[in-house]
Amino acid sequence: MPVKEEKNGEEITNPYQIAQQLIRRAAESLDLPEGVYNILKKPKRVMKVSIPVRRDNGEYANFTGMRSQHIDILGPTKGGIRFHPGVNEDEVVALSMWMSLKSALVGLPFGGGKGGVIVNPEELSERELEELSRGYIRELEPIIGPDKDVPAPDVNTNGQIMGWMLDEFDRLRGKDVSGFITGKPVIIGGSEGRIEATGRGVVINIMEAAKRLNLELDKLSAVVQGFGNVGSITAKLLHEQGVKVIAVTDAGGGAYQSNGLDIVSLIDYVNAHGTVNGFEGSEHISNEQLFAADCDILVPAALENQITEDTAPTIKAKIVAEAANGPTTPQGNKIMEQKDIFVIPDILCNSGGVTVSYFEWVQNAMHYFWKEDEVNEKLKEKMENAFDSVYRMKMEKNASMRESAYLVGVGRLAEAMKARGWIKNWDMPIEC
Ligand code: GLU
Repeated sequence: MPVKEEKNGEEITNPYQIAQQLIRRAAESLDLPEGVYNILKKPKRVMKVSIPVRRDNGEYANFTGMRSQHIDILGPTKGGIRFHPGVNEDEVVALSMWMSLKSALVGLPFGGGKGGVIVNPEELSERELEELSRGYIRELEPIIGPDKDVPAPDVNTNGQIMGWMLDEFDRLRGKDVSGFITGKPVIIGGSEGRIEATGRGVVINIMEAAKRLNLELDKLSAVVQGFGNVGSITAKLLHEQGVKVIAVTDAGGGAYQSNGLDIVSLIDYVNAHGTVNGFEGSEHISNEQLFAADCDILVPAALENQITEDTAPTIKAKIVAEAANGPTTPQGNKIMEQKDIFVIPDILCNSGGVTVSYFEWVQNAMHYFWKEDEVNEKLKEKMENAFDSVYRMKMEKNASMRESAYLVGVGRLAEAMKARGWIKNWDMPIEC
């Protein structure tokens, strides 16, 4: 069945449909039996729960939480938990599918999972947030665990929330199960380097792309959409590599400085003011202006559906590094391909986070912990190998980086199905 580009000429923004479309195209191009797509197109399990939380005023609120487990043929499902008002089932399912591909692509022994709670955490007090985090784990306890499904941080969740969740899970099981969650504070079994890992992975990918394009980092400029954990660390590490970061935006506004922002001071400013907006010496910049900025590298590090048929035509950057999950619509992608922009697709670009989560899980299993340099070195090796697999596929098949990443990811999942006896007589077209 041919893959549909558009639905009634409208831009496709449903992440579940986008994920299915990309997987289907890869399965067709790899000449896989139809059954492979039939297995990959749906999650293995989705659990939806209600989480009552007693508000500070004594009233109960009731939040909806969910967890999608896509496929577990490479290992336990793995992926973050997001707290956001826009969370919905299709989004969580798509994000879990992307986690499966991400892990397969990097060569991690994990399947894909993702969770979310429909909530604006800014509207909760710290006590309420803790109750919500613990309640989420109580409800999901039967289907999660270090050898079943391993959560981690995602949008609006952090080490403190992972710490509460670990504490709740340990109480429920009546023992220490620190490998059940990653991204927790180092003092209770977290890994050195995990907080910076996603941003560090993004920058390693950008360095690899620049090498292939014969570009020198210290002659390049960048803009970053989103200044949460991933965006701010990416900006900081790019700055350290000599890249001039000229603009950043976040939910509260934007900051632009043509000769480069001082990222270290900007991080201090954000810690004090909660937004990049109004940073001393900067001019205000909108998201639309950021996408259209005259620069070499564009890093979308916020939410889905940012590079669209409206914003893609305005992009001037040579490299787009997708630090967010699903930032590009199919139409936006097509336009970037036509413009010959070098896209580092999300499932490759932001895979540093889950990679160091894997290292955390390994360290928890052996109760022995590595120093930060060791973690960073291992991360670099994994990222460079993943980039290389995708780039070799691109050269071999004359495909885009996104198509190539899906070919490698879907191909490895198909290899696992073959090894388990689910499909016969199929060979990966190139060795990855
Ligand atoms: N939330 C991150 C992601 O989307 C990290 C997941 C993890 O560490 O398991 O890749």
